[in-house]
Amino acid sequence: MIVCKGARELDRMREANRLVSRTLDLLGTMVRPGMTTRQLDAAAEDLILGSGARPAFKGYRGFPASVCASVNNQIVHGIPNEQPLQEGDILSLDVGVYYKGFYGDSAWTFCVGEVSPELRKLLDVTRESLYRGIEQVVVGNRISDISHRIQKYVEAYGYSVVREFVGHGIGRFLHEEPQVPNYGEPGKGPRLKPGMVLAIEPMVNSQGPGVKVLEDRWTAVTADGGYSAHFEHSVAVTENGPWILSNSSGRTRRGTSGPDPVIEGGEE
Ligand code: MG
Ligand code: MG
Repeated sequence: MIVCKGARELDRMREANRLVSRTLDLLGTMVRPGMTTRQLDAAAEDLILGSGARPAFKGYRGFPASVCASVNNQIVHGIPNEQPLQEGDILSLDVGVYYKGFYGDSAWTFCVGEVSPELRKLLDVTRESLYRGIEQVVVGNRISDISHRIQKYVEAYGYSVVREFVGHGIGRFLHEEPQVPNYGEPGKGPRLKPGMVLAIEPMVNSQGPGVKVLEDRWTAVTADGGYSAHFEHSVAVTENGPWILSNSSGRTRRGTSGPDPVIEGGEE
């Protein structure tokens, strides 16, 4: 069953997602060579607990940390550890909180120091594919209109979308119906109605779409060793179009800092 939220519930979901966004903003300022993902996790947990919220992922089916930290060939669900980040790494951070009865969920891939132009491009295309998907969050569209747009945009650059993990509804539960895949034919699945909230989260691999899960039973990595990027927003369907509940003024469609990325080709 898909649960639609009323105006007051959406306001509360905005609060939860605003905290997620503030957490990612904070972590983004900390990401640098030498920093460990354990340190980032601790900072996130301090901010979330200090704000009267609870980290949503900690203890979720036994996950041992407050954020997921996935480096380079890791796709999602990486466990924070003591290994220092290195110049040129990419780091996907996924943050979830539970606040006043509702969940917030958002992810962003950051550059560690200077990153190669090839990897920067992977990040630019993945981030842009999220926003292309969000543009499809229009009353009357169907779920797979989002999926299709993301896949089409990503594959135009020769990258591939992960199939094993998908976006999801979100609200009083972290994962609600419907599922929001990042691939598929348009015009399928439930119609979008005002009050639906969707966590849209393309995971994009630089090479093939294949996935392996490591022995820790959490960390998902690319099967072929390619790089992977992950961007996620929680988005409400409204009569006035998409409302990005996890928006950040610091991290935008155009990235985190510096000049706008050049995204050639791949247009429809
Ligand atoms: Mg997430
Ligand atoms: Mg999610």
